[in-house]
Order: sequence, then structure tokens, then C-alpha cells
Amino acid sequence: MDKIALLDTLISEASCISASVHIHPDGDALGSGLALTSYLKSCRGKDAVLLVPDPVPDSLSFMLKDYSEGDVIVAATAPEKAFERIQESDLLFCLDCSSFTRAGDLMEPYLRNSSARKVIIDHHLNPEQDSFELVFSETEISSACELLYRILKEMPEIGGITEKLPRPCLDSLLTGMTTDTNNFANSVFPSTLSMASELIAAGVDRDRILSELYNCYRENRLRLMGYLLNENMEITPEGVALMIINKDIQGRFDFRQGESEGFVNLPLAIKEVRMSILLTEEDERFRVSIRSKAGTSANKCAMRYFNGGGHEMAAGGKLFFPENIPSPKDAKAYILKVSEEFFAK
Ligand code: 5GP
Ligand code: MN
Repeated sequence: MDKIALLDTLISEASCISASVHIHPDGDALGSGLALTSYLKSCRGKDAVLLVPDPVPDSLSFMLKDYSEGDVIVAATAPEKAFERIQESDLLFCLDCSSFTRAGDLMEPYLRNSSARKVIIDHHLNPEQDSFELVFSETEISSACELLYRILKEMPEIGGITEKLPRPCLDSLLTGMTTDTNNFANSVFPSTLSMASELIAAGVDRDRILSELYNCYRENRLRLMGYLLNENMEITPEGVALMIINKDIQGRFDFRQGESEGFVNLPLAIKEVRMSILLTEEDERFRVSIRSKAGTSANKCAMRYFNGGGHEMAAGGKLFFPENIPSPKDAKAYILKVSEEFFAK
């Protein structure tokens, strides 16, 4: 049976379907998760819910406007509800992450141990194929949203006709693809532009989505961006730009989850910068975000030094204290060492 036929069968045979995405959900995670539930409900008449490990950031809350409250369960705020839902599910999707590990410590054991049939739809390097009955893995693609769009279009009842997919589904897909390509600045393939063209032709209001994504931030975001570029950014001799948003800075700018989206890309505008690292302090660890220019592997750096991974030029991970560095204030020295070692000939 080909993969689309198997997916079609798995969906037909399921009665309770859940989709899980990665911690700190971004536009692509939410977009693919929402689009899938929209399709499953509207086109297949299924009971479908999106499970997100953490709350939806304020900056992306507009993505929920066409969905009802019951469509999404946030595990961090309603863990029992999330566990119950996983136990009830007979089909689980893992979207925009390479394994259930990325769904976070809270949900991972429930997802892994579930007896549901499991499908992964992902665009990261090295997905954990063995844990899934059906694997859609493609790395030469912009986003999980683009991969999901390709799959949904091929479903028998859609028959390649974009307009047959519900509008909320199409809106969510374009939003996720837009954020993962940094608004068509990276990971854009001919298929990505075809997708955009088809969605806009089908009536998706891209101008509205762009306005929601990029023109509705709080003033704090721009103040913080200015501060980081002016006073915080350091560049190592090897061309690694570093910015650190520690707890003190978070307090000063009333920082909220999701509000630093895109910051890590900014230093790449500097000719000499080969890689950019943004550290955001959390409890007992820094969240690490890495972007690189062609020829430098952000993925290798994330795997080698930051307990993470991702894509070749966009990766992330975590830096724990005291396991990796004695305390938060030692982060800068660690990055200097990493920079020297990683680029040593
Ligand atoms: P971001 O910098 O936008 O948070 O993440 C960039 C990319 O790195 C994303 O594709 C994301 O999936 C991946 N990534 C971020 N954090 C981690 C992590 O802790 N582990 C792994 N394996 N990948 C991560
Ligand atoms: Mn993605």
C-alpha cells in the first residue's frame, strides 16, 4: 500500500485522533497541528484535537481565531486533560518534530507508551522512524506545513484541489510556512512558491496574515531588539554572534514567550558573522537558538555543544547549569570556547 493510501486507511479506522507538536510551539508547529485537525474534522468528520506542550504565545494567538476552545489542549496548564486525551486516542500524529522527545518531559512518556497507531510528519534531520507506523519525512522542504499541504492535497477526497480544503486549514498552512521560511527569506523551494501561489489563488488573505504576524507586536519587543543589538550582542573572533536574554533583561523588558522570534537571524546580516547564537534563560537552563550561513552547520553545533539539533542552518537546544556550565553568568565564556573549538581548522 502506498503511504497516502495507508494514511487514508489509518484515518478512516480511527475514531479519536490527536496531534502533538514540539515544546515552545512556533508558527509551523501550530499551523500544521491546527491545519490537520481542521482537515480531520471538516473533511473526515473525525474527533480531532491538537495537543500543545506549552501555551500558545500571545504573538500567535490570532491563529486560534477560527478554532474552538476544545480543539486545543495545552499540556502545561491542563496536564490531566492532555494525558486522558492521549489515552483515549487511537491515532496519534507527531508534527514538526523529529520524535516525541520534542513534545517535552510531561507528555513524552504518555505519547510513547500509547497503544494508538502513530504517524510522523516532519521536516527535521534524522527523525526517529522506528517509533512510527507511518513516516512522512522530508528535509528538502520549507516546513511541516508545506509537507502536510502536499499530503492533504493527495488525499483521495481532496484529489489535488486546494479549494476542497477548509479555509482555516489553508490559513494555518500559509501562516506556518511563512514563519518557518522567515517570510520567504530561507528554505524556499519551487514547491514552496507553488504552495503560496495555490493558497492565495484559493482565497487565503496573505496580507492579513502578514499583518497579524509582523505588525502586531508590543512596543517592548522592539525596545528589547534595540537593546540586544546595541548593548548585548558580542561577536567572537571566529564570527559567532552571541546575544543573551538573561532573567534580569527579561524582567526589565517584561519579556514574554515568543517575543524574541526572529532575533537570532538579525546578526547574520553582518558580513563577518557565520553563525548566530541566542541564549534565553529559563529555570536551570538556557534555551539555545542557532542560525548559520551556508557552509556552517548550526545543526552540528547544536548537537555537539547544546544537547539539541534541528536543520542544517537553523537549530536549537539547551544549555544546562550546573551540568554544562556552573552558572548562568558563565554562558559567555562557554560560547567563546565553543566558537574557538567549532571553527578550529
Ligand atoms: P528555534 O531557534 O526557532 O527555537 O529552533 C530552530 C530549529 O531548531 C527548529 O527547527 C527546532 O525544531 C530545532 N530545535 C530547537 N530546540 C531544539 C532542541 O532542544 N532539540 C532539538 N533536537 N531541536 C531543537
Ligand atoms: Mn518547522
